[in-house]
Amino acid sequence: NIPLMVLFLFGSLMVTGQNSEIPSSVKNVESKVDSVLSLMTLEEKVGQLVQYNGSWDLTGPASEMNNKEKEDNIKNGRVGSMLNVLSAEATAEAQKLVMENSRLKIPMMFGYDVIHGYKTMFPVPLGETASWDLEAMEESARIAALESVAEGVNWTFSPMIDVSRDARWGRIMEGSGEDPYLTSRVAVAKVKGYQGNDLADEKTIAATAKHFVGYGFAEAGRDYNTVHIGENELHNTLLPPFEAAAKAGVATVMNAFNDIDGTPATGHKVLQRDILKGKWDWDGFVVSDWGSIPEMIEHGFAKDKKQAAQIALNAGSDMDMEGGAYESSLEELVEEGKVSMKHIDDAVRRVLRVKFKMGLFDDPYRYSNADLQKEVPYEEHRQAARDIARKSIVLLKNEKELLPLKPSVKNIAVIGPLADDKDSPIGNWRAQGEANSAISVLEGIKNAAGKDVKINYAKGADHGIGERSFLMPLKINTTDRSGFKKAIKTAEKADLVVMALGEDAFQAGEGRSQVNIGLAGLQQELLEEIYKVNQNIVLVLINGRPLEITWASENIPAIAVAWQLGSESGNAIADVLFGKYNPSAKLPVSFPRAVGQEPLYYNQKNTGRPSNDEHVTYSAYTDEKKDALYPFGFGLSYTDFEYGDLSLSSEEMEAGGRIQASVELTNTGDVEGKEIVQLYIRDLVASTTRPVKELKGFEAVTLAPGESKRIDFTIDEEILKFYNVNKKWEAEAGDFEVFVGGNSRDLQKVGFSLKESKVIFED
Ligand code: BGC
Repeated sequence: NIPLMVLFLFGSLMVTGQNSEIPSSVKNVESKVDSVLSLMTLEEKVGQLVQYNGSWDLTGPASEMNNKEKEDNIKNGRVGSMLNVLSAEATAEAQKLVMENSRLKIPMMFGYDVIHGYKTMFPVPLGETASWDLEAMEESARIAALESVAEGVNWTFSPMIDVSRDARWGRIMEGSGEDPYLTSRVAVAKVKGYQGNDLADEKTIAATAKHFVGYGFAEAGRDYNTVHIGENELHNTLLPPFEAAAKAGVATVMNAFNDIDGTPATGHKVLQRDILKGKWDWDGFVVSDWGSIPEMIEHGFAKDKKQAAQIALNAGSDMDMEGGAYESSLEELVEEGKVSMKHIDDAVRRVLRVKFKMGLFDDPYRYSNADLQKEVPYEEHRQAARDIARKSIVLLKNEKELLPLKPSVKNIAVIGPLADDKDSPIGNWRAQGEANSAISVLEGIKNAAGKDVKINYAKGADHGIGERSFLMPLKINTTDRSGFKKAIKTAEKADLVVMALGEDAFQAGEGRSQVNIGLAGLQQELLEEIYKVNQNIVLVLINGRPLEITWASENIPAIAVAWQLGSESGNAIADVLFGKYNPSAKLPVSFPRAVGQEPLYYNQKNTGRPSNDEHVTYSAYTDEKKDALYPFGFGLSYTDFEYGDLSLSSEEMEAGGRIQASVELTNTGDVEGKEIVQLYIRDLVASTTRPVKELKGFEAVTLAPGESKRIDFTIDEEILKFYNVNKKWEAEAGDFEVFVGGNSRDLQKVGFSLKESKVIFED
């Protein structure tokens, strides 16, 4: 068959791009995609929609196949992508299987969970978000991309941009907290950091916005649980970060395990096909979550794998991650007319488009570049990790002027299960971050303290987390008090005690939901025992989620939230303790008074019975206050900031117009400091109920002692828009409140009204 031969030769030259140039007639990505598509058989098309796990022995839904079968499938072009193939050599090896054996030689993408660094570990995303430093967050993504590329990984399953308000949910650590605006800003910064300006740039990787959508709203904080959410909340709270990522050009989106209002996200046509790909006009591809296509059987939404494949593909899930459903059923489904060729082509086109944009057709091995490995400046990366780590530490309390540590402090006791722990700060989802490779709190303090300062360490108790395995119940040790005595003695003779308490590296993360979010094991008891002998305590929390620390907040004079800060954790903590860095971070998530308040978030609705009167409970609790212990946006500095009067350029805003909110900020303390000034807005009466306030802007301002600066925020119709009763993003005329301040609770307030856009003729 000569014509086919010609076509084939032409196609094979064209798609490999090796030795030959893409024909000049094929000018842009779209026409390249079309011409490849026109050469593909149905089997090859389906192949592009299949992703295999790299460590083949891992049990997964597709694990029935043996390795030989999998290898043959890769050679035959039946696999478009792999995940967890973890070295430049291994990815090159796998790519070779395709490039040297398959008919069309369409290169594979290699995905991996590079969540907060690849080798150099940065703070976990929740911690990093506390910096509110978008440039630094972009930079950490850029660094993670470079380190990944050097090892053959060209696609990260990050950023996770699920808004989450529930500290019980273990995966709260992977996101940016409770606010959709802040999460959206971080989403854009991360996409830019990973992908750069051009996916074809050899130092960038493809990003994934995940999990689309609702995953962070798992009922009762139980992972994978059902999500009940109304349309209004879905559009106003959960979708904005995804829309922002889509507009920023994120290459891929991962769907989610959960069902949302009765439909599994993986099989949700309205979300994936109509909104993401339709309304937002996004041209990347959707990868399923791990096995989430066949999991629709467990959901009771598909009777078998074949039906699951049909539902998922028709709903716009383009690639099947280790689910085995597409590879076993899609061809048959097309032949039976249950899945249209149009939908298959659309899915394949999306995958090819990303691959072309990544330059994979020009050089399928471009990510397996051993030379690049030598160029990676790991030392510089650690400096960047230290910088963002210290910017992420939130100072919650600082009484008795304990911090920064005074030169008069000559004897420091460092106590607690996390004080000498070099592993927990690395956190979960650590990619290739080595176990036990973080600078511990103890090491950091030793590095920073002068020679004449005595540092004595005592562990006191274990953090009590005995079992680290994925999806295994926690085993918490609450009986071994043998270390208490030494710890108490060490504290007794110290000028000051630094206590490092909190969570094990794997206490937060996937499948790690908890009903208790206090200091686990014997930690609370240890803290109270130490307090009896020495009240000069600085409590350093190492944590992946908000913790319940009510007793500590009432008794312990100084508290800093250090999250899981990554490789340079201890040095960053010491920078803050010794005043080398003046803390500037602000909580991206509320810290509750009691776990029973969860889900807890600042941007609540007012309800019909709000009551701020503490003697009347109404929509509150009879046994606890209803607000947060430490609210969203909260964080102290070593200096003091004074806000002048908040003013508006006008109390009326014309339709389509804009006004300015202005405030003068003064550093009234003794040291230079950075304040994150926050703008919140409330729409007082609208066609749907609206939150009591919503973050709409922020600005980081660094001021020398005595220095003042005027901060201006522009308010226009764009930021007043919300998804309203008309199912549209609209700004509605009426009265608004504007709040500015240093956290979501302590704010100044002024008001303005937005005029009607059309002239209303009254009778
Ligand atoms: C997680 C995803 C992750 C994927 C691949 C899933 O269990 O939910 O976030 O990207 O595994 O490791």
